[in-house]
Amino acid sequence: ALAYFNGKIIGIDEPVIPIDERGHQFGDGVYEVIRFYQGKPFMMKEHLERLYKSAKAIKLEIGKEQEELETIMLQLVEKSGLADADLYMQATRGIAPRNHLFPTCPASISITVKPARELSQDVRTQGVKVALLPDERWQNCYIKSLNLLPNILAKQEAFEQGCFEAVLVREGIITEGSSTNVFIVKEGRVQTAPLSNHILAGITRMAVKEVAEELKVPFIEKSFTPEELFQADEVFLTSTTSEVLAVTNADDCQIGDGRPGSLTMQLHKGFRQKTR
Ligand code: PMP
Repeated sequence: ALAYFNGKIIGIDEPVIPIDERGHQFGDGVYEVIRFYQGKPFMMKEHLERLYKSAKAIKLEIGKEQEELETIMLQLVEKSGLADADLYMQATRGIAPRNHLFPTCPASISITVKPARELSQDVRTQGVKVALLPDERWQNCYIKSLNLLPNILAKQEAFEQGCFEAVLVREGIITEGSSTNVFIVKEGRVQTAPLSNHILAGITRMAVKEVAEELKVPFIEKSFTPEELFQADEVFLTSTTSEVLAVTNADDCQIGDGRPGSLTMQLHKGFRQKTR
């Protein structure tokens, strides 16, 4: 594992962030998590595009062209010697005396490269439990902001209820998970919330949509309620680190026959093929 801060490659445990750094003090920045499979980034362009979109939405000038940032990330992973890696990168509004108003300093860029975290085989074959919790986030969840307090609190609450993920409910409809997108399968059709300011446009969601189209499985982007989730034949989550993950229980209600669904497994298989 190794890290990068503002032009320097450093050890993962080295202290580098000055006290007056806006990511540290305000969470004033945006981030991405990119998975490398066998040395190659998965959907790097899409991640970069989302990063620049997030930055623009918070009026943050990253100060580097997309290609330059891509080169830095590729070099770091190569230097790490890791074939399967999780790359985390964040851009913040930089280092300046604490003041809510925007500073004029350049953005800070931090990156870490670590061995990819694989879910255990047990979790993969058994599926996971989720807890439905209120979506207490703001109105701009399409921005991948560093401010994750509502997500963290929901995930922790779910964990304390013995669950893997919190599935968030806003005004009677399911938006997404605390760090995942949520899908249901009913009568052979895959359904997930439409893109809006209430969810993050997941890159894995995009990949799964492509897989569904390739498999000629109907893919519907339409909001659904907790009731529809409880009644679904299958439920699954997607994210860069979880890929496609079966949900077998929600709020102590068994989903389908209580085992990962066949369409879920097919979509995961198709997804894995894309990563090669
Ligand atoms: N929603 C939220 C709130 C997330 O934090 C994530 C993880 N980045 C996702 C969805 C899934 O996005 P992706 O597939 O791009 O990892």
